[in-house]
Amino acid sequence: MKIYNTLTRQKEEFKPIKENEVGIYSCGPTVYSSPHIGNMYAYVCWDVLARTFKYLGFTVKNIVNITDVGHLTSDADEGEDKMEKGSRKEGMSVWEIAKKYEKEFLENLAELNIELPGKMPKATDHIQEQIDLIKKIEANGFTYKISDGIYFDTSKFADYGKFANLNLEKLKEGARVEINQEKKNPSDFALWKFSPINEKRQMEWESPWGIGFPGWHIECTAMSTKYLGETFDIHTGGEDHIAVHHTNEIAQGYGAFGHNTANYWMHNAFITFGGTKISKSSGGLYTVFDLKEMGFDPMVLRYMILGSHYRKGLEFSIENLEAAETALNKLKSYKVESLSSINQTFKQEFVEKISNDLAMPEVLALVWKVAKSDLNPEEKWTTLLDFDQVLGLNLDKEITEEKIPEEILKLVKERKKARDNKNWAESDRLREIIKNKGYLVEDSQNQCTIRPIT
Ligand SMILES: [Zn+2]
Repeated sequence: MKIYNTLTRQKEEFKPIKENEVGIYSCGPTVYSSPHIGNMYAYVCWDVLARTFKYLGFTVKNIVNITDVGHLTSDADEGEDKMEKGSRKEGMSVWEIAKKYEKEFLENLAELNIELPGKMPKATDHIQEQIDLIKKIEANGFTYKISDGIYFDTSKFADYGKFANLNLEKLKEGARVEINQEKKNPSDFALWKFSPINEKRQMEWESPWGIGFPGWHIECTAMSTKYLGETFDIHTGGEDHIAVHHTNEIAQGYGAFGHNTANYWMHNAFITFGGTKISKSSGGLYTVFDLKEMGFDPMVLRYMILGSHYRKGLEFSIENLEAAETALNKLKSYKVESLSSINQTFKQEFVEKISNDLAMPEVLALVWKVAKSDLNPEEKWTTLLDFDQVLGLNLDKEITEEKIPEEILKLVKERKKARDNKNWAESDRLREIIKNKGYLVEDSQNQCTIRPIT
């Protein structure tokens, strides 16, 4: 198995710490809003990674953490707390917000047929571990205290910035506009933040340094090493984490244990919309449930994601999604009732491609080579089902989603708006109209489903 290691900027032969076993830690979601398809992209990529290792005979220990403690909207430990912001916006406590969006995240995993990670530890359940880790870093002489918290002194770690090829001199120049003038170096980051005086935070804890909350990098180092050991195999995350979050995690590992915690660091690119990363300003903020409402089975999105390489990312558009839908339906049409044997020549080719840093676009090309080959239909289908252990497309399940007419979708959207505004009378009125047009709308906790009245 070859994987691209951000540490060395090259593809390397993967050497596990324990034979036939792999430990993988993936940075998880901050649970303060609904995950959109751009957020879910990474988890499909790392699901393929875990499935590939399983397919190759490895025991996989994988972890995706849940960030349920507020970290700040800016990487520089400034700005607003995301969880508290979500709490104010929705009139719920931060704890309720965390619960609500953790549940939504789990629903998204299920919809996209992402196998549940072995563990999904929460930051708030690991406050003591984070405090203990900061104590270690402190005892090793890497910290200092300023008025708003305990900081990591990055000048004490000679290789700081090497991972991300950071230009520390440039950072210093930029520091003139830096908000926190008490920091010794612009790249220094908070390990523990004090609760502001005269302000009661919803989430805060006692610590040896005072009441406050952990900085946002420490939880990943604390939880990854707790469950996978002080040195583990693979750490994954979005490429936006290289410059700050993972650079700081590496620094924390060095500060606490004297070494890098992970042997391989893997990073995914993003789904783009109109050429730029999906965001509020660029658009494309669809959720899996939005696409479902539009009549797209989540496996269509998964198929579309498989058509991209995790380091290249993917341009999203409804047209591309429609093309993926056509392809997936065509692929499913090769289904036969009885199975035979797996074609070993194709299987070998499959193993070569998945073992080459998850070359999924080539894997999909191979899938079509098999489908269009002159193998007998049973052998063909059996081989495709074998591949599906890694693809995770549920190939043998029928697509049952039916296209919902544009007119109905528009009404459903209007109704959602009414519900968001707690305008129940209007919401009920629209439900009636939709019903008279032949569709039933059902609301469960976070989503609504539409189905034709039969
Ligand atoms: Zn992380």
